[in-house]
Amino acid sequence: MSASTAKDFRVAIVGGGMCGLACAVGLAHRGIRADVFEATVHLPTSSPKFDQVGAGVDLGPNALRALKGLGVLDAVLARSDEAQQTARRMLYMSGTGAHEQVYDYETSSVFTAADNGIGIYRQSFGPVFLAAVLPLLPDSSATHFNKRCTSISTTASGSHCIHFADGTTHEADLVIGADGIKSISRNALVDPAKRPLQFTNTVAYRGLLSTDTLRQESVTSAVDTRLCCFIGIDKHIIAFPIKSGKIVNIVAFVTDNSVSVGSGEVTGPWVKAVPQQELLDSFDGWGHDVQAMLKHMKSPSKWCIHALTPLDTFVRGKIALVGDAAHAMAPHLGSGVGQGFEDVFVLCELLGHSSTNLSNLEARKNEAILRGQAVLKAYDAIRQPRANMVLKESFRAGMIYENFGKAGYATGADIEGHLAGIWEPIWHHNLDEDVAAAIASLQEQGSFPAVTTGF
Ligand SMILES: Cc1cc2nc3c(=O)[nH]c(=O)nc-3n(C[C@H](O)[C@H](O)[C@H](O)COP(=O)(O)OP(=O)(O)OC[C@H]3O[C@@H](n4cnc5c(N)ncnc54)[C@H](O)[C@@H]3O)c2cc1C
Repeated sequence: MSASTAKDFRVAIVGGGMCGLACAVGLAHRGIRADVFEATVHLPTSSPKFDQVGAGVDLGPNALRALKGLGVLDAVLARSDEAQQTARRMLYMSGTGAHEQVYDYETSSVFTAADNGIGIYRQSFGPVFLAAVLPLLPDSSATHFNKRCTSISTTASGSHCIHFADGTTHEADLVIGADGIKSISRNALVDPAKRPLQFTNTVAYRGLLSTDTLRQESVTSAVDTRLCCFIGIDKHIIAFPIKSGKIVNIVAFVTDNSVSVGSGEVTGPWVKAVPQQELLDSFDGWGHDVQAMLKHMKSPSKWCIHALTPLDTFVRGKIALVGDAAHAMAPHLGSGVGQGFEDVFVLCELLGHSSTNLSNLEARKNEAILRGQAVLKAYDAIRQPRANMVLKESFRAGMIYENFGKAGYATGADIEGHLAGIWEPIWHHNLDEDVAAAIASLQEQGSFPAVTTGF
């Protein structure tokens, strides 16, 4: 790609995480240059460390389709140390007692490994992803590190000015806010004093164990081959194999349901190392396999899980949010970044359309803002309802997992009733159709030139 853009608008992306970089590459594939401003000093470029932060991100087939459409999937797969893509669905079992099977999602899913040829994929994802995607950026001078955005203002001409902590600024016509859960870009859409981001009252303890260790402990649950969920009241544990089954990734969730969501705030860091005893005490009385796993999580990290109350819109002016900036959600359906990739794919498709230009990015002054009337509104109309649906379902899934034994979810049949098909609307959704409908709508409403049939 040359340093110039084929478009008459300048694009800046705030945040060089998974969604921000995927967006930069997706735009580059469509001939659009974007400047990326990342708060940290550097991103990994080679030999990414296998660490807990990036371990075991779950990507559904929808996420992989979006990555393919962005032109980054092959590079990510080539970098991955996972031997194969597999279609694995959650196996639910009791956390206490003998870990009896409660429900196997396999039986409800209509998904097959042949679905678009892509299965569920998991790997040491974050660092691998960034290291794979960074070289795909055609113009390294467009990636700016150590640039922490502090605010975004609007100029008299209608462009946006990004202000950075180092006192510098950058002007762009379109700003894509990809700055994650603690997004500053979001402040341009929602008053942070309204506290759209809330502590869910759930903490997650994360750790990695070798499969050999678990075998020595006579763990018989299928954690080395399947995505397993041990459920119980106010707690659940997700365990699944990564690194081709050599390592088991464990995430143990504990929720304080005695207080309402949003009533408390976490002061201090959201992620910190904690003594193992805190974890052991939380799961006191749970069954053998759980105890065996937790016993070997010698230095767990504890994550305070935050989520957004669903935003009414992901767009204001010519600022569009993607990823966690738009819809940070609880991780209970493993779909947060997948929704981010869907955002980015839709946005790239719409921005890359030959009829998109500066004049139709945003609904003009005094014009009724209708669905599909301007390109960014079309993006919002596609993405806001869908991503927020997944956000709400993710929260509900956590409640189902953690109320096992209470009224409503007391039996396997109840669990099945609540969970059957919960992933299907997430995994099976045709974004190409959404984009085609939005383009047709833009054409009908005059934002894009009408299509001539030649007859
Ligand atoms: C315990 C846990 C498990 C999860 N498991 C899954 C899973 O299995 N599957 C799944 O799909 N999702 C999962 N998620 C969610 C997933 O991690 C997020 O959805 C994803 O990381 C969001 O990507 P992003 O690019 O939007 O934000 P981030 O990855 O947070 O990237 C944001 C980037 O913006 C930069 N930045 C931040 N502020 C500024 C600023 N002011 N100026 C400039 N740059 C800035 C940051 O440095 C960072 O590089 C999980 C989350 C948690 C907490």
